[in-house]
Amino acid sequence: MGIRSFAADLLPSALLQTARERPAAAIARAEANDFAALTEKLGYLSKAELKQVREAYKFADEAHLGQFRASGQAYITHPIAVAGLVADWKLDVQAVMAALMHDAMEDCGVTKPELIQRFGAPTAELVDGLTKLDKLHFSTREESQAESFRKMLLAMARDVRVILIKLADRLHNMRTLSAVAADKRGRIARETLDIYAPIAHRLGLNQIYRELQELSFAQVYPWRHSALAKALTRARGTRRDIVERVQKDVEKAFGAAKLRAQVFGREKTVYSIFRKMRDKHQPFASVNDLFGFRIVVPQISDCYVALGVLHQLFKPMPGRFKDYIAIPKANGYQSLHTTLVSPLGTAVEFQIRTEPMHAVAEAGIAAHWMYKAKGSNGHGADAQRLGATVLKSLIDIQDDTRDAAEFLEHVKIDLYPEAVYVFTPKSQILSLPRGATPVDFAYAIHSDVGDHCVAASVNGEAVALRTELKSGDVVAITTAPGARPNPAWLNFVRTGRARAKIRHHLKTMEHEESRALGERLLAQSLRSEGLLMPSSDPNDEAAAPIWQHLTRWSGNRNRGELMVDIGVGRKIASIVAKRLAHLIAERGGGDKPDAVTLSMRHFGTDAEAVPHQGHVVIDGSEAASIQLAACCHPIPGDEIVGYLGRGEGLTVHSAECSVAKRLFERDSERWLPVEWAEQPVRAFDAEVNVLVQNGKGVLARVATAVSATETDITHIDMGTERASETTELKLTLAVRDRQHLADALRTLRRAPAVLRVARVKG
Ligand code: MN
Repeated sequence: MGIRSFAADLLPSALLQTARERPAAAIARAEANDFAALTEKLGYLSKAELKQVREAYKFADEAHLGQFRASGQAYITHPIAVAGLVADWKLDVQAVMAALMHDAMEDCGVTKPELIQRFGAPTAELVDGLTKLDKLHFSTREESQAESFRKMLLAMARDVRVILIKLADRLHNMRTLSAVAADKRGRIARETLDIYAPIAHRLGLNQIYRELQELSFAQVYPWRHSALAKALTRARGTRRDIVERVQKDVEKAFGAAKLRAQVFGREKTVYSIFRKMRDKHQPFASVNDLFGFRIVVPQISDCYVALGVLHQLFKPMPGRFKDYIAIPKANGYQSLHTTLVSPLGTAVEFQIRTEPMHAVAEAGIAAHWMYKAKGSNGHGADAQRLGATVLKSLIDIQDDTRDAAEFLEHVKIDLYPEAVYVFTPKSQILSLPRGATPVDFAYAIHSDVGDHCVAASVNGEAVALRTELKSGDVVAITTAPGARPNPAWLNFVRTGRARAKIRHHLKTMEHEESRALGERLLAQSLRSEGLLMPSSDPNDEAAAPIWQHLTRWSGNRNRGELMVDIGVGRKIASIVAKRLAHLIAERGGGDKPDAVTLSMRHFGTDAEAVPHQGHVVIDGSEAASIQLAACCHPIPGDEIVGYLGRGEGLTVHSAECSVAKRLFERDSERWLPVEWAEQPVRAFDAEVNVLVQNGKGVLARVATAVSATETDITHIDMGTERASETTELKLTLAVRDRQHLADALRTLRRAPAVLRVARVKG
């Protein structure tokens, strides 16, 4: 982002040397003068500190040797000028040194360890921070993008001094922009207007804010700028009398009230007039508060006295009084504002403030250092309080900061502690809450990306999906078409959006599964009636009316909803099947109309009994809609029964389970026959209690015994009575079936220190 001539890079080094040597004396003299001017501003530093600054200067001068600005000046003149601005704010020695070396790392191959060794870690950190900011490139076309960048810039520069030096850098580049090629000027000015000026504003550096705006505005809209500037000069001429008369009247009134007050005339900048015209759709003639006054008084109480005097002198405009002393602006700004109607009918705005408030109004956060430097002459406590006030409004600091070192610590924390700013591979910026993960990132891009995300990389390296993202990370997401959200993601996602999308997807999945289960259950019930499921095709002339009748009877909006109801147990499949059989018999239709008679015989003869429905087959691939009961943990080989809870889907219990037996007594019609598939697709959890003799390594011995049977332990619970002779371990084992479990238990029983082994059966 720096502006410089690259001509030096194109020249062979021998030529470069001669080019530099010829006017060397003159250049060296000019630079020495520049540096001398800088040291004059550094009177607030100690002798030792000045020596450090000189070291930094020498280092930077050597590093930039042979580089030139677009203006033809030696490159080092730029860092010296930036350091000068930093010195105007009375920033500390580290900041001045960093300003001198701010372009050295990027341009001259100077490394950070080298800087740490020569100038200490704090200064090296500042230079490093500035170099990192310099590497960011952005299209500022979109307003939202510019806002993100502003935030990111503030967040990435953990030390506010980095931002201040960066602003000084930009200000000097803007002041010298005319030397830069015309095609680059527009882009740089845009960027300044979109990004740097608002940052200055946010930090309360109003003087810089205004200057950056004026300089950029003149570049971006040269014609409008010159037209407005001319109009402003004309207006100034015609209104000079009013301004002078108002000033005299005001000073006289303050004198009569025995109020010590300084009165300054104040003018709007060209850019602020332009903005007002544009935003409020006003012509130049009706922008009426071109002029104003700033009143600076000794005490806060004097502000209100001055206000009273002014309101007695001229008529205030209703609705224009604002008390920013009682309620400061977000950037720390404090003043009383009021607009009065002057004797000639012109509106004139007055800003009333104390001197410290004035410093904050002009220099914002930088006022802290200015006052700290002054502090050696006695204004210390006030300055600290003021600096703290400014900062307090910028970042949320709970305690008052009195000590300078402590203050700096606070300044060093993130200005946006709650957010991280990350990039897509195409350099789009996303803002996420701190702690956000690649999954949050994926959902922030698009819910499809989130739903199908399987892997992520950060800055080119593969990372776990639960990795915490940091500001500046470039994040890439890998998706797969068949992938689905994992419920475990809910444990680490930070954004509400990701959470909602994952939940929604899981719900839909459950819904689909319930529906599929409903279809299965109804088909089985129908089969036991000797019928096949009528076609679900809405265009099937025979089947469609049957479904219509059936859903009207069941009170469902459509066939799908009825299936879900059956799947989750809100409707009983056998009852629906009977009704369906009845409808088929009445109207004819279904896939196998000949079966109607068979079905009717079945239905007619044994209406009261629990009908045969066929079996639901469990193979382990079922998810949300079919659950294996946690009380008895049935595994293949166990005799099992299925309980269709109301709205809960099907729960499979072991036939011996006492919970199941109790449920059966209550509502027997909700029981379905279920059976294991021949080849279940996964292992099943079984719970086992193991009583062991306490002793060293007993757990390891148990674990070894279990793994010898190729069984995984998915969970271990240990008894808490450590003092006793024995401990009961509760193991959850993943087994294929009863046989596998029996093998594991046998091996366990033979293991040393194991006293008793028993499966838990609900
Ligand atoms: Mn620079």
